Amino acid sequence: MFKKILIANRGEIALRIQRACRELGVKAVMVYSEADREAKYIKLADESVCIGPAPSARSYLNMPAIISAAEVTDAEAIHPGYGFLSENADFAERVEKSGFKFIGPSPESIRLMGDKVSAKQAMIKAGVPCVPGSEGTLPDDAAIIKRTAKQIGYPVIIKAAGGGGGRGMRVVHTEAALLHAVQTTKAEAGAAFGNPEVYMEKFLQDPRHIEIQILADQYKNAVWLGERDCSMQRRHQKIIEEAPAPGIPRKHIERIGERCVAAVKKIGYRGAGTFEFLYENGEFYFIEMNTRVQVEHPVTEWITGVDIVRTQIMVAAGERLPFTQRDIQLKGHAIECRINAEDPYKFIPSPGRITTWHMPGGPGVRVDSHIYTNYFVPPNYDSMVGKIIVHGDTREQALARMNTALAETVVEGINTNIALHRELMVDAKFMDGGTNIHYLEEWLSKRER
Ligand code: ADP
Repeated sequence: MFKKILIANRGEIALRIQRACRELGVKAVMVYSEADREAKYIKLADESVCIGPAPSARSYLNMPAIISAAEVTDAEAIHPGYGFLSENADFAERVEKSGFKFIGPSPESIRLMGDKVSAKQAMIKAGVPCVPGSEGTLPDDAAIIKRTAKQIGYPVIIKAAGGGGGRGMRVVHTEAALLHAVQTTKAEAGAAFGNPEVYMEKFLQDPRHIEIQILADQYKNAVWLGERDCSMQRRHQKIIEEAPAPGIPRKHIERIGERCVAAVKKIGYRGAGTFEFLYENGEFYFIEMNTRVQVEHPVTEWITGVDIVRTQIMVAAGERLPFTQRDIQLKGHAIECRINAEDPYKFIPSPGRITTWHMPGGPGVRVDSHIYTNYFVPPNYDSMVGKIIVHGDTREQALARMNTALAETVVEGINTNIALHRELMVDAKFMDGGTNIHYLEEWLSKRER
């Protein structure tokens, strides 16, 4: 096992990784920007290094600063968390070339999956079903673009090969709008992701977002840890996640989970990863793979009893997976609500000083957050300030527990979306389970205040 790990992230996930290090008896080095200097989780670390000013481009995305921090503290490995540099193949490569272990897959795997077009091609080869679409990126030839769309059938969606974070996508309903949409998406993709390549997919009308968590070691042992339903989204951003996915026959899920494990073995993938699918009319369609730990990992940890972050560290250190597929048994139901510092109606970010931070507790309640009373939420980063996760024997019990947990929660000084979660937890359709990816937006458009 490593003696010391550098955590190249901030906020709740930095604290989550620090906790896993403690449990493993590994020293944790935190890096931080000037905006995070006062945060308690920095003070809890064994060592900490300031890597630059508040803007992420000059701190949490500053590769040389992070690598020198690892050098001066004698860390052996770097955990990238999620976001920031976690899916940057060049970073993973620089980390390894500088003599550190990158806690994640190989740079080659990150590169393969980071380009959505090459990822799809690899998945088709590995027998994972994908959304019908263009073979590779779209050419410049207008006639070919039109023919491709006709073959797929309208509506289609134009997506950036290098896209992420729910950006770089455009839905097209008619041929008249097609070429303009392709041009605009290309221009946006070039500016936002440094890669103007786009591809085309059938736009599925009312799918659910279902994803499969996998874990693999470097000896080609791999398991899948059940699924998560992340259909409750606003602007392609997940807000509520749960596991298992309500109402999908176990046989269907098992078939897709086994395919994912086979694909992981085929590409020689190591570490934690998530296969994201759209699920419509009983069929799964792969959309992308995330090559890192995800925000919503706790719901899976709870129903499987597997510590995903700890296992990531163990396999990066060269250990074998400590369990096989047969050991993975799903138990009960877990739900996660992402708590964001934002207006619950207009969704405008709400940074600032938190004057009261009171979190829930009791049976089946877990809170992952780095926040405390008097913490200042900096305006520079993502608005998520924590996650409330509950577990119950049944989905009904989990919902009841989430209701109680949200009612106990008090956050003052900033706005949060807790009021939104409280409304959603008693919404009849959500309570029934199985809402699709458009449900939350439709609900918001009809919401009364
Ligand atoms: P990102 O990497 O930006 O998160 P994804 O490919 O994972 O992009 O897609 C994000 C979301 O966009 C999905 O969860 C879904 O809501 C929507 N989406 C993507 N592709 C399609 C499609 N072919 N049909 C319908 N919705 C889609």
